Amino acid sequence: MNPLDPVFKPKSIAIVGASRDPKAIGHQCVINLLQSGYEGKIYPVNPKADEIEGLKCYHSILDIPDEVDLALIVVPAKYVPAVTEQCGQKGVKGLVIIASGFSEVGREDLEKEVVEIARKYGMRILGPNVVGIMSNPLKMNASFGPYLPYPGKATLISQSGALLIAMDARTWSDKVGISHMISIGNMADLNFGDLIEYFNEDEETAVISLYVEGVKNGRKFLEVCKKSKKPIIALKAGVSQRGAAAAASHTGSLAGSVKIYDAAFKQGHVVKAENLDALFDETMALALQPPMEGENLLIITNGGGVGVLATDAAEKYGIPLKDAPEDLKDLMRKHMPEFGSPKNPVDLTGMADRDWYEGSIRDALKHPWVHGVVVLYCETSFTDPQNIVEGIYKAIQDSGVNKPVTVSLVGGEKSVKAGEWLIEHGVPYYKSPSAAVRAMAALREYGRFKEEKIHEFKPYEVDKQKVSEIIEKVKADGRKALTEPEAKEVFAAYGLPVPKGKLAKSADEAVQIANEIGFPVVMKIVSPQIIHKSDAGGVKVNLNSEEDVRKAFEEIVSNAKKYDPDAHIHGVYVQEMAPWGTETIIGSINDMQFGPTVMFGLGGIFVEILKDVTFRIAPITAEEAKGMIQEIKGYKVLTGARGEKPKDVDAIADAMSRLSQLVWDFRDHIKEVDANPVIVYEKGLSVVDARIILK
Ligand code: ADP
Ligand code: MG
Repeated sequence: MNPLDPVFKPKSIAIVGASRDPKAIGHQCVINLLQSGYEGKIYPVNPKADEIEGLKCYHSILDIPDEVDLALIVVPAKYVPAVTEQCGQKGVKGLVIIASGFSEVGREDLEKEVVEIARKYGMRILGPNVVGIMSNPLKMNASFGPYLPYPGKATLISQSGALLIAMDARTWSDKVGISHMISIGNMADLNFGDLIEYFNEDEETAVISLYVEGVKNGRKFLEVCKKSKKPIIALKAGVSQRGAAAAASHTGSLAGSVKIYDAAFKQGHVVKAENLDALFDETMALALQPPMEGENLLIITNGGGVGVLATDAAEKYGIPLKDAPEDLKDLMRKHMPEFGSPKNPVDLTGMADRDWYEGSIRDALKHPWVHGVVVLYCETSFTDPQNIVEGIYKAIQDSGVNKPVTVSLVGGEKSVKAGEWLIEHGVPYYKSPSAAVRAMAALREYGRFKEEKIHEFKPYEVDKQKVSEIIEKVKADGRKALTEPEAKEVFAAYGLPVPKGKLAKSADEAVQIANEIGFPVVMKIVSPQIIHKSDAGGVKVNLNSEEDVRKAFEEIVSNAKKYDPDAHIHGVYVQEMAPWGTETIIGSINDMQFGPTVMFGLGGIFVEILKDVTFRIAPITAEEAKGMIQEIKGYKVLTGARGEKPKDVDAIADAMSRLSQLVWDFRDHIKEVDANPVIVYEKGLSVVDARIILK
């Protein structure tokens, strides 16, 4: 038995705060359990009532003569700790705290108190601030939502209660089949990760669908998603506030929560829904159809217009159409008139009847080139949509293969009815061609996730001790920011290539260092108070002579003193001048939920204006890093655009992977990292500026 069974599959339920007032939530919960057909025991609890809706009512949960698996708590927040205590004494195993008035209104203290009491007794909590649990397999509406959702195989978990109730109704109008619908609320105890783990083992669940505002324990979420045997799809709401907040590093200012969640979803193999419609449409497809196991999508249509719309959508959603092979075209020609088109989209023409649909779909599915088929139909005067969908269904059956099919019927009432028939027969139907394609794209996305190999991070050999010492020293100084020489020492200890350099305390010393390194050199101010060195006139590049170096030293020091008279100046950093190359940025921020991350972007306008950056949760392998690099819009800049030679992408990937290890190893200390710029060459790279901020 799973320890969460008493919560999600209870044999007996008490409603603490059951009410005789028909308008009260505490009444609705009793009615819902009765009306949904729940076969377990139902025990209303109310100190002032003896009977509610024909059920015996107990004055205290302690009076119930039987075992209680689950308690729905619908008393005002201030009474919840006392009720929780009683539930513990009674030996209740799970609590659904419907009551609100906890952390969502700033009462973290009350929430914590309740969790502590529950822990003492080993009780698990869903909530507080939830609608409840709906289960079709158990015919259990343990919630104040109006009715059980349209039955099916998707488990839908929502962080918003109001949205859950709205979605409940919509599952019926869209015919999106649901096994469980769960309101997760404040996640004081059970969170997304716990539920995903649990419903992975649930036989009635084929897909897990999430409405997420923010996860708790991001690392666990990621691990659980990665291990999931079932598809997970999520709609993430809420844009970044953190991005706008002042951040000391460039990476910090680019790291909106949206980007971090995108990263986590990718790494966790979670299909991302772009909006609520997509969440519904794609949940249906993932529940009813197998994943698309290749990139070859074939569209079959009776109308050119919808074919074009679907073609556009295919490109937009990442499954662009390809030319069908000749033998497939020959097969398609058999099912169309002379003036039809056997190309992709296959246009059966407006004369298409049931037989043409049936034949072309069957032959297409059987053909090894085809990985998935989107069928489009425009209602015509001489065809009956019902007849057409029966043909579609028959073709799928006769094909004998397990390839995904989605359908869009464009038309009126008859088409809608026929579409519903399709859904009831396990074939996803949508009103618009682009929705049918988007659903197929979700099936492809899931297919790609399944094909992706597991990336096992193998740590590099590094000088961890050295980094610990530097960090300890900076902390002992009472500083948060490492100076550039310190940060570069840290990078070097993890094998990131940095230019040679040394700190000069005087102009004479600077000249001596420059001679050792060789001209030209770059000189920069070193002061814990000056983080953006150029802003302070603290950077001089391309210094070619002893005279240049001497002059630069004096100027840099005087500029810095002008910029910040209180700045404590360690000296001037004299370093090798890296040759010209392509500027990129590698960085990291330590996210509150997911911990250390890695960022990559191209330098200059690409990050400043276009914000063309991508994130992953650290650590990452060099191979994963390569995937990130290829993902950015400006990737072509690195592969040799405008006649330039391709740059060393492998070296960037290696540096990113090493940096990911650094931020992971020192996750308790490092808050933000910026390597900006990292200059990349045809062979190798150089990290010319380094910034590390501690927690
Ligand atoms: P900051 O970002 O604090 O203003 P940087 O160290 O990034 O200072 O220096 C500013 C610019 O000077 C860099 O963006 C880069 O173009 C150039 N630069 C800095 N160091 C070097 C170097 N060692 N070799 C070549 N160019 C450099
Ligand atoms: Mg810089």
